[in-house]
Amino acid sequence: MLYRKYEVAQTLPEALSLLSSHNGAVVRPVAGGTDLILQLHERILSADVLVDISRVPELRGIRLENGQLVIGAATTYTEISRSDLVLKNAFVLAEASKKIGAVQIQNMATLGGNIGNASPAADAIPGLYALQADVVVCGPNAERRIPITEFHQGYRKIDLNPGELIKEIRFAIPAEGTGTAFYKYALRKSQAISVVDAAVCVQLSDGVIKHATVALGAVAPTIIRSPAAESVLIGEPPSEDLFDRAAEAACQDARPIDDIRGSAAFRKYLVGVCTSHAVRSACERAA
Ligand SMILES: Cc1cc2nc3c(=O)[nH]c(=O)nc-3n(C[C@H](O)[C@H](O)[C@H](O)COP(=O)(O)OP(=O)(O)OC[C@H]3O[C@@H](n4cnc5c(N)ncnc54)[C@H](O)[C@@H]3O)c2cc1C
Repeated sequence: MLYRKYEVAQTLPEALSLLSSHNGAVVRPVAGGTDLILQLHERILSADVLVDISRVPELRGIRLENGQLVIGAATTYTEISRSDLVLKNAFVLAEASKKIGAVQIQNMATLGGNIGNASPAADAIPGLYALQADVVVCGPNAERRIPITEFHQGYRKIDLNPGELIKEIRFAIPAEGTGTAFYKYALRKSQAISVVDAAVCVQLSDGVIKHATVALGAVAPTIIRSPAAESVLIGEPPSEDLFDRAAEAACQDARPIDDIRGSAAFRKYLVGVCTSHAVRSACERAA
């Protein structure tokens, strides 16, 4: 048996109460189940009770609030990729959402699940690093707001206490003249985990890059930012030479490993490819 009990929460207080009301049992939240159910099948994880949070209204939807975009943790990739607010303000997230699994996965799987699963190859997280997003976590007594770069503390290690849930993601609406982009290299077009990916956010002012964030996936125990690539970009006008230099700099920050999807050397090469593609697209969109 994968689990003993499956409970469906209808509200956030009910979800939080169900998570803490089974003394001594292993209780886990489940949203789309596209990571968790496989991990239970393969006995990577165990659970006595699953609390289904996919229908909790407080965890769903996308809204603007005080100059920030707020995305509920149980919002699916299909909802994200079709959202006018996301398409207008955070295109990188729509672009990444369309590259996750295939349509069936995009209809079920959620942004909060990607963050909770904390794979170093998670495709939705690099865009959140590039947008400098915060994760809002709620527990029985309080809410906490944590920069996503601190929320992921190590390989599959997150800053979440028992009984807490990821509630939503928040980030400031990017300034005028900002472009964002996501580029993924995988071994086939869909249903494929990233070998390497990159997400970029650049702001252009008077033809010069005023602000740049570059995030890389599948090249370290967590998603990482590339300070080297960012400092190459800032203060320069976009050009093919600049994109090459940023790509080279990003390779310095990547610490990839060999695995079944590619060698460390191949991944280092791909960091350059993914970074230059993403920086070029982000600059074109910013312009
Ligand atoms: C065929 C297939 C293809 C895939 N392709 C990709 C891909 O291309 N790119 C990619 O990045 N991923 C891919 N995945 C992985 C998966 O779809 C994503 O990571 C997805 O975002 C997980 O979301 P979910 O809602 O299904 O999470 P679930 O499986 O429900 O949960 C995942 C983990 O997060 C926890 N969790 C879920 N929601 C919360 C919350 N609100 N608060 C706290 N903890 C929570 C759960 O307890 C569990 O530990 C693929 C999976 C499959 C099966």
